[in-house]
Amino acid sequence: PIRVRFAPSPTGNLHVGGARTALFNYLFARSKGGKFVLRIEDTDLERSTKESEEALLRDLSWLGLDWDEGPGIGGDYGPYRQSERNSLYKEYAHKLLESGHVYRCFCSNEELEKMKEIAKLQQLPPVYTGKWATATGDEVEKELSKGTPFTYRFRVPKEGSVKINDLIRGEVSWNLDTLGDFVVMRSNGQPVYNFCVTVDDATMAISHVIRAEEHLPNTLRQALIYKALGFPMPHFAHVSLILAPDRSKLSKRHGATSVGQFREMGYLPHAMVNYLALLGWGDGTENEFFSLDQLVEKFTISRVNKSGAVFDSTKLRWMNGQHLRAVPSEELTRLIGDRWKTMGILKESEGPLVDEAVQLLKDGIDLIKDSDKALTNLLSYPLLATLTSSECKSLLEDKLSEVSTSLLAAYDSGELLGALEEGHSGWQKWVKSIGKSLKRKGKSLFMPLRVLLTGKLHGPDMGASILLLHKAGKSDAVAVEAG
Ligand code: GLU
Repeated sequence: PIRVRFAPSPTGNLHVGGARTALFNYLFARSKGGKFVLRIEDTDLERSTKESEEALLRDLSWLGLDWDEGPGIGGDYGPYRQSERNSLYKEYAHKLLESGHVYRCFCSNEELEKMKEIAKLQQLPPVYTGKWATATGDEVEKELSKGTPFTYRFRVPKEGSVKINDLIRGEVSWNLDTLGDFVVMRSNGQPVYNFCVTVDDATMAISHVIRAEEHLPNTLRQALIYKALGFPMPHFAHVSLILAPDRSKLSKRHGATSVGQFREMGYLPHAMVNYLALLGWGDGTENEFFSLDQLVEKFTISRVNKSGAVFDSTKLRWMNGQHLRAVPSEELTRLIGDRWKTMGILKESEGPLVDEAVQLLKDGIDLIKDSDKALTNLLSYPLLATLTSSECKSLLEDKLSEVSTSLLAAYDSGELLGALEEGHSGWQKWVKSIGKSLKRKGKSLFMPLRVLLTGKLHGPDMGASILLLHKAGKSDAVAVEAG
């Protein structure tokens, strides 16, 4: 059976790289009818925090990447926090000791430092050369009876190589001659990271390990531990780095990089997921717009690219706009209406006025939060603008005055307001008649009208905007008169 896991360390926020790893695991599991396991790697007790774990779970849930087993929900292979699995690590470390794959090393820190220095002088790799790899039973007993602290060291074959067939990178192999015997359990009884991961993946029956490329050096050690424990190796897939536009490693200095930041900025989870999937994957067509379900349907690990993917926040923003316009209109009205109400721009969060405003403004925005500015902007349209923009002026200069005169007259006589009372058809009729009397149509009529009525050169549909404003002016739904 297919079982994959996402194994974050709760030492910080879920960033886009981690989220993409989680997504690929999720898609792989869902597309194959497998299980998606969440495991919290909190062996680093000093850096791990409860808050960070909670934030990770919240961010994953927000993205819609629900897990089948993990903290909170349990499962047959728990517990799902490394800090709760200590007895298991001890058990397996002991097994390795019995089988001779690890040995007790009583070297002091000073001795180890000295070995390193000597290796450096001789220009040799800093591998363990101490006597404990070959110590006799008596020598060991003697130290044990003295109570000398010891670590468990893994006995690495002195020659040969380890090879994996990575599902993304193809064959990857390492020579063993420079690795040296590494510690699997510290003298305080704490197992080291690579040992925990291997015991966990093996005992959780993980079939595919999909994780970041930076873990490749760990894979070598983990492969040796698998073999020593007699567990079958899982398949590995190492996903490439996410890069900044300048192709350096993506980091905080490039702007927002954590999922939480994007949520707070008002990004939609669907858009986020869609964009993350495109970081190193595509379905082989031009199509870039996918729902989570469609991704599950299309995803294959063989289409994951092995070169680094550039994180382009402009494209993410654009993608958010695509998803925003695909949100069913009722839901979008609720999302935006709630926001307007909370922001104090509108008193109502639903109703025909809110609905109209959302429909009118949605094409011009990529993010929910941009709707605030779009609405206050609309509400600030003066029905008869004083022209301040020289751009507007020069564009319209000679044509402006006669339109302005007619418009003023229509406004003063109440003709314009009367037309607006009749709604869309009234507005259309009025525009037609003023066009006729001025002998203007199309752009030469609409541009000056727009500028005069809204004070702007561009904007959403003019008739709908004016009608909405007119209605808003009559209702007490507008809480803040911007201007
Ligand atoms: N805990 C590791 C990390 O946060 C992931 C380990 C793994 O996937 O094997 O990067």
